[in-house]
Amino acid sequence: METFLTKTDAGSNRNTTVDKDSILNALKQVKYPGFSRDIVSFGLVRGVDINDGHVSVSLAITTSDSDIPKKLHADVDNALKNAGYINAEITISVAPSTQPHATTHSASGAAPDRALAGVKHVIAVASGKGGVGKSTFAVNLAVALEKELAKQGKSGRVGLLDCDIYGPSVPLMIGLKGRPEVEGDSLVPLENFGIKVMSMGFLVDEDTPVIWRGPMIMKTIQQFAANVAWGELDILIVDLPPGTGDAQLSLVQTIPLRGAIIITTPQLAAVSVAKRGAMMFGKVNVPLLGVVENMSYLQAADGSRQNIFGEGGGAEAAKSLKTELIGQIPLDSDIREGSDQGIPISISHPTSSAGKAFFSIAKHIIEKIALS
Ligand code: ADP
Repeated sequence: METFLTKTDAGSNRNTTVDKDSILNALKQVKYPGFSRDIVSFGLVRGVDINDGHVSVSLAITTSDSDIPKKLHADVDNALKNAGYINAEITISVAPSTQPHATTHSASGAAPDRALAGVKHVIAVASGKGGVGKSTFAVNLAVALEKELAKQGKSGRVGLLDCDIYGPSVPLMIGLKGRPEVEGDSLVPLENFGIKVMSMGFLVDEDTPVIWRGPMIMKTIQQFAANVAWGELDILIVDLPPGTGDAQLSLVQTIPLRGAIIITTPQLAAVSVAKRGAMMFGKVNVPLLGVVENMSYLQAADGSRQNIFGEGGGAEAAKSLKTELIGQIPLDSDIREGSDQGIPISISHPTSSAGKAFFSIAKHIIEKIALS
């Protein structure tokens, strides 16, 4: 790890009201070289400190191109000076890129710009913990989006990236098996129900548990996300691993996300877990598109509803995350059966209560990201 450190000329800051928000706002003006995205939303700013009126800013990037830290340093310095911080200390830690092809660069050193060049919007599906139905939701949302976009004459423009490296369940849920072909240095997604799918499950052996360690997780996820031949897509849904560890962070820093959807269950006890899972997006300036409550209720034959897992968790999570509750999906044995058989309920029972909930969320997302 190389450190790139300078102090601009000594003297006190001209800006008399030194505050973190205004420094961050200044940093948001700085784009990562070659990208339209700013360094704050890319998650590259590791620290902003104010000590006795002296400002220090630290960045961590991964690249093998020595011009990038130089350019970043100059741009950060300029942005801070423009905001009145004339003697800020700027530290840029540079970890060398491990990518074999160092010709294209991104925040992570991998090349998602190339892999995702034809992808209009990437949306992450996340949860604070496992078992809440995150993958089930990701699969059914992808199916519903595909069908809704097909109505507008845009078929085959939805992708699904399963980054749940601990338990990739998407292949089973969407009825896909096999190894992806390699074209050049990219993996070719498999396809079912009109959706292009890539999963770690296609690459690892079903019966062999994979034990991942920190640095390995980051590297694998970054390379995995950066080397899929998606082609032209309107929406790529990314099924993130549950929680907020290294894997999630490296992913949200690798892929420019349009937004994130948080999945939770109805019990109020799940709210704090959902919030923890969502907070990471705030830190890297990825907007929340909403909260989805899964396993909301069980509907009896007479139409009455039973709140098996309590109620209010989704609304409460949405409120405390300052976003909206964009759907409630009932408990339905057809969902589980569909998952096990590889036929999502949005395909097999699109007009069931659960099916309708997925389609309504899909329409909402299409409107929200202005795809209609
Ligand atoms: P996660 O991705 O959060 O770990 P999964 O999507 O793998 O969770 O779901 C866990 C299990 O719960 C799966 O067997 C799935 O079929 C089942 N499941 C998820 N949502 C529902 C639901 N609304 N009704 C019935 N079963 C569900």
